[in-house]
Amino acid sequence: MSNWLISGGTILTSDDAGTIIENGYVLGVENKIVAVGSGQPETSDVDRVIDATGMLVCPGFINAHTHLCMILGRSLGSDRTLLHWLSETQIPLMQAFEPEDYAISMELGAIENLKAGNTTICEIFFTPHYSDGVDEISVNSLDRTGIRSIFFRCTNDENFYEDFIETRADIMRRSEHLICHCQTSRTRIGVGPLVPWSSSPKAFEDAIQISQNKNVLIHLHTSETPEYNDLVRQRTGKSNVEMLADVGALGNQVMLNHCVHLSDSDIELIAETGSHVIHDPTSNMILASGVAPIPKLRAKNINIGLACDGPACNNNQDMIQTMKDAALLQKVVTRQPDILVAKDVFRMATRGGAKAIGMGDSLGAIQPGFLADLILIDTQVPHLTPLHDPIATLVYSARGSDVHTVMVDGKIVMQNRQILTVDEKEILAKARERARKAWKQAQNRKKF
Ligand SMILES: [Zn+2]
Repeated sequence: MSNWLISGGTILTSDDAGTIIENGYVLGVENKIVAVGSGQPETSDVDRVIDATGMLVCPGFINAHTHLCMILGRSLGSDRTLLHWLSETQIPLMQAFEPEDYAISMELGAIENLKAGNTTICEIFFTPHYSDGVDEISVNSLDRTGIRSIFFRCTNDENFYEDFIETRADIMRRSEHLICHCQTSRTRIGVGPLVPWSSSPKAFEDAIQISQNKNVLIHLHTSETPEYNDLVRQRTGKSNVEMLADVGALGNQVMLNHCVHLSDSDIELIAETGSHVIHDPTSNMILASGVAPIPKLRAKNINIGLACDGPACNNNQDMIQTMKDAALLQKVVTRQPDILVAKDVFRMATRGGAKAIGMGDSLGAIQPGFLADLILIDTQVPHLTPLHDPIATLVYSARGSDVHTVMVDGKIVMQNRQILTVDEKEILAKARERARKAWKQAQNRKKF
């Protein structure tokens, strides 16, 4: 059994009381935190000491919705709305991918997330190449980087780009294969129809059946834009959330992403069923989608996690920027500076995300018994000086590139900004080459 000690930093525990400990320590054994306190622990017998002097020590952030499968499309189709951005650039690019593009996308995306302090990600994966086994390739690639992830195998069985459609039988068979053969303690599998207008009611029921039988989460894009809601209403005569309630796709195993355009009765349904909401403020601004009613959701005690959304619609994976955007967006539309404050968004990025992925009792806080997913943020830089209020400084002044060291599951995966698990330089070089090739093929195939 190896034990380790992080010593000397300011610890933002994100525990229930929101405790902050100056000159504190975190003691761990293997992948678990065993003690947290101020000064030094009673035991001096440790295998490894990490000096956190001048650092903030935080739980790693949980980026609760991303699409690393689209990372090679970063910056393509900027300044368009969601459906135009998808159809004019991102879908043609994805159609041009080859199986090896997925491995490099996952590795690049995981590195970007780790370097920004995101120790857990929810990958909302979709592809026209499921028959080539790219889901399994992608899960293995993510796991190799050392990040904690939930890989949602998202699907379409009708009314979407033809090559992205699978039969219900294939969806069931391939999803069960992935769940049974590819999960590790750090890399879990989830399922979900990709968007509400591209799956039949039966496909939603299949997803619920898989979720219940195999005890996996469901992740659903929900009420992202008015046009999107119109598509659902044209097909079903109902709002997106009402349609989900009808097919039984709400509950505490369900993550509803975006939830920008909701009626009061939609919000009631989400609250009653204990479904989780994931908020992506930066993506909502970039795609001009709108402003999610976060204060209304909070008033109903709905659990909310935060997410960057994909690197192609953010266009980065910086959860610190996402926290700031979440707070600022609500302040500017309500003109109330205290409507969503720094400690609220910090909590959403840690505890809210953990609860949404069913790990509220083991992840997202620095407290004994919790998993050791921790980040150290170097505050000895001009833009973080002075440090009167550590959480306000983190949320409003810091950026992902201030993250110095990252521990996932008790293992150091980045130290002094050097990734230790995979070869960053090689991955970046390959990603540049693969992205160039795929985009060239997409342009040759289709003029737009
Ligand atoms: Zn998404």
